[in-house]
Amino acid sequence: MPEKKPAPRRDRQFEKVECEYVYLDEQGQPIDLPLGTYRPEDYEEQVIEVAEGDEETLAKVLSPRGPEPEAAPSPIPAAPPQPAREPAPSPAPDLKARPAAGPSGPPAAPAEAPLVLRQAWRGYQSGGGRVEVLKDVSLSLAAGELVIVAGPSGSGKSTLLSVMGCLLRPDRGQVRVMGRDVSALPETELQEVRRRHMGFIFQNIYLMAALSAHENVRVALDIKLAGGRPPRSALELLSMVSMAEYARRLPRELSGGQCQRVAVARALAAGPRIILADEPTAALDTDNALSVMRLLKDLTTSEGLATAVVTHDVRLFQFADRVLSLDAGRLREVRRNEK
Ligand code: ADP
Ligand code: MG
Repeated sequence: MPEKKPAPRRDRQFEKVECEYVYLDEQGQPIDLPLGTYRPEDYEEQVIEVAEGDEETLAKVLSPRGPEPEAAPSPIPAAPPQPAREPAPSPAPDLKARPAAGPSGPPAAPAEAPLVLRQAWRGYQSGGGRVEVLKDVSLSLAAGELVIVAGPSGSGKSTLLSVMGCLLRPDRGQVRVMGRDVSALPETELQEVRRRHMGFIFQNIYLMAALSAHENVRVALDIKLAGGRPPRSALELLSMVSMAEYARRLPRELSGGQCQRVAVARALAAGPRIILADEPTAALDTDNALSVMRLLKDLTTSEGLATAVVTHDVRLFQFADRVLSLDAGRLREVRRNEK
């Protein structure tokens, strides 16, 4: 019996070009933007061609427009829709961008951790009052270190990760990325910091359903900025997460754990130094959860990444160098594992 021929990829192509636009954040992840929270003019249309052998696939995506003086509402993939935009917190006077040390100034400290939070505060306006979610949080995330942030639901873990990832500004305090205080940078520059230095992984994996594993990583490579490492191809990135042999599969043809591996490869696109993962294993069964976490741990060591993982799953604590707990807005170390 003749082997059943797979549907020609060109069909998918047209389907994709004609289908609804996909909005992407600057990590190359599709954003499920609540209606009315985006302005189409803030997005740029991109047709991405992915050549594989003699086949070609087109995807039409919308990604955040380049530098504009007035920043658009920042799409925050992990955050719930915000009913009303809060006024931008005004930075404390002593946090205004300080001029970087010039040639005559003192040299920057050489060994600062890739990501540092200094006395960060962040709250939300809620009902009549203000709820402080992060209270005076300081944290240093070193290269080659995997830190777990634990804490009950609603304790502020996602808020902390969003502040670390420059998706939310602290009301007070400093966020330092790669030795630089980014607390007062305009949104467009923050976006560049994220594209260059950070990879994000979420509980909802947000792969593009119409694109193969390979294409999902390719899209991120097109959007992210070189983080200072030798460039890697999408296929190399997929092999780092043991997914090279599944490169041509669509997300629906992969298990949840395999999809999350692709998302890890995507987060590593362009060689960021910092990986931030918000409950990356919460949607996985135990075996997959352990294996994705082991993968994150191994990559953290081999690539010298500074990795923060939010989870309340105690079975994963063994993979962390340190476990920090967020409780009533305060962060404290609750466990340290020997290397
Ligand atoms: P976790 O990730 O630990 O579950 P979150 O950081 O999502 O916690 O939320 C911490 C607290 O802040 C919760 O009480 C939540 O309801 C509140 N919160 C989060 N985002 C907003 C927002 N945009 N507006 C108002 N309150 C918020
Ligand atoms: Mg959360």
